[in-house]
Amino acid sequence: MCRHLAWLGRPRSLAALVLEPPSSLLVQSYAPRRQRYGTVNADGWGVGFYAPGRPGPARWRSARPLWGDPSFASVAPVLESGCVVAAVRSATVGMPLEESAAAPFTDGRVLLSHNGRVDRSVLPPVRDAESTVDSALLAALVFDRGLDALAATVAEVGAADPAARLNLLAADGTRLLATTWGDTLSVLVTAEGTALASEPWDDDPAWRDVPDRSLVEVTPDGLTLTPIGEPPA
Ligand code: GLN
Repeated sequence: MCRHLAWLGRPRSLAALVLEPPSSLLVQSYAPRRQRYGTVNADGWGVGFYAPGRPGPARWRSARPLWGDPSFASVAPVLESGCVVAAVRSATVGMPLEESAAAPFTDGRVLLSHNGRVDRSVLPPVRDAESTVDSALLAALVFDRGLDALAATVAEVGAADPAARLNLLAADGTRLLATTWGDTLSVLVTAEGTALASEPWDDDPAWRDVPDRSLVEVTPDGLTLTPIGEPPA
């Protein structure tokens, strides 16, 4: 399945966040180290980020592999942001292969990435999904319900589809929210800011694994971790 990451803190270039670390999202697109489902993430990628003076995020997405995007690599060193969500995609069988199916999704205000899969037939009807991919329908549901209901929405969808994997990663420009439900997530807290990532982008021993079925909230004041429902039996 996909790999995603988010950053909240001092502005950093998109190259520093996505391309340059030794096990960056770029490397994870062809050689992930902890991926449980799928082996490469070559079905598209995307990055969304907030810029001063703009209420909504800017996005760059593509249906191509991240390693095949030299134009992005050339501008990424000069694009800087203090709130970023990025993802590389390994499409679930049967899902559309198109730019609009690549995370992060947005309602014009919030960014959301989904690492996992869900049976689309269990999701309540939604308006304005960006694609028919399961992740876009789930994103539209999260946008409808609001970020404060993220854990409740995941618990509800997880109960409706016990085989679902629901690692979500969201940002609104001032905070990050993430869930673990069936896949990996790590967190790195530094003096400059906090990173959340499906897997660490380097071997810094400060990376911590987030337990399964958790809600993580990152604000400029710090990080909180809350269990979602009961742990699996
Ligand atoms: N189900 C989503 C898709 O097909 C996400 C897949 C993933 O996490 N790899 O794009």
